[in-house]
Amino acid sequence: MALNTHPALPEFEYIRPGTLAEASDFLSHHPDSARPFLGGTDVFVRMRDGFMKPEFLVDVKNLDGTNELRFDPQAGLTVGAAVNMNRVIASAEVQAHYPLLAEACRSVASYQLRTRATVIGNICNASPAGDTLGACLVFGGGLHIHGVNGSRQEPLLAFFRGPGKTTLKPGDIVTAIHLPLPPKGCAGKYIKLGRNQLSDLSIVGVTALGHKDSTCSSRYRFHLALASVAPVPLMPMEVETYLANHPVTPDAIQAAARLASEACSPIDDVRGSARYRRQMVRNLSANALTAVWKKLG
Ligand SMILES: Cc1cc2nc3c(=O)[nH]c(=O)nc-3n(C[C@H](O)[C@H](O)[C@H](O)COP(=O)(O)OP(=O)(O)OC[C@H]3O[C@@H](n4cnc5c(N)ncnc54)[C@H](O)[C@@H]3O)c2cc1C
Repeated sequence: MALNTHPALPEFEYIRPGTLAEASDFLSHHPDSARPFLGGTDVFVRMRDGFMKPEFLVDVKNLDGTNELRFDPQAGLTVGAAVNMNRVIASAEVQAHYPLLAEACRSVASYQLRTRATVIGNICNASPAGDTLGACLVFGGGLHIHGVNGSRQEPLLAFFRGPGKTTLKPGDIVTAIHLPLPPKGCAGKYIKLGRNQLSDLSIVGVTALGHKDSTCSSRYRFHLALASVAPVPLMPMEVETYLANHPVTPDAIQAAARLASEACSPIDDVRGSARYRRQMVRNLSANALTAVWKKLG
């Protein structure tokens, strides 16, 4: 069979609902044939490549406030579903309070792609390689979801069920992610290992966030999130517990990085072998934790 190197986009009907209620209603009545979309940078590529063939694409941009990027000094940051990554990066409030989120967004592909790609699309795509998931996880993000029975909130950590699989049910639309106020004086680092510097998914991604915490015997708390090394984005709690209970030293960081590598379950694929990934988790976790530790002074 000849390989078609220029596959065309299959035909579909574009649906533009006026409200979230209309959108949820339509999606719930077409569970197998309709899909919501935002920037379309995952959806259209997957359709073109024949991995999905929805009859209807439901545009959920600009519905009932999903275009808002809002910072509240008491409550934290809310990033609406339709907010593209360049807007997140350019936000003075994100730069001041959540620079790690801006750093993660900046690591995604190119400027051009980021004018379409959204953080919520990255999350709903549920690829364990998604670059912005780690930052959203270490800040303790929670999702706002609109469904046929009204709205609800869900912790991001519980949202992922496997590659491309989430807790969403027919009719559900993620409307925003909320990040609580970051811990005072926190520092973060995202390290992405890709095959090139531009426009590639990660072979391994390591996000670290640290801050002072007088309730820990080490007096510091670190959060670590790993990308591309398990069926879902991973937060190895062993690392957090270890560094909360041992004085933070170069040796302790190495021991914590070893725990991170033991916690993951990578696979072999075109971007790297499982063995390489596991080793890289160890090295890059040590690098990320050390960088954060240095920033904390
Ligand atoms: C050339 C190229 C390079 C890329 N490089 C990177 C990279 O470096 N790092 C990276 O992480 N990703 C990368 N990606 C993937 C993609 O750009 C990101 O995942 C992006 O964040 C998706 O956002 P979007 O708004 O375009 O999502 P869409 O394509 O609109 O949607 C993504 C998925 O989420 C679902 N969905 C969308 N909105 C909602 C909603 N509100 N509620 C429920 N479900 C919804 C859709 O049905 C779909 O399954 C790349 C893609 C391309 C084409």
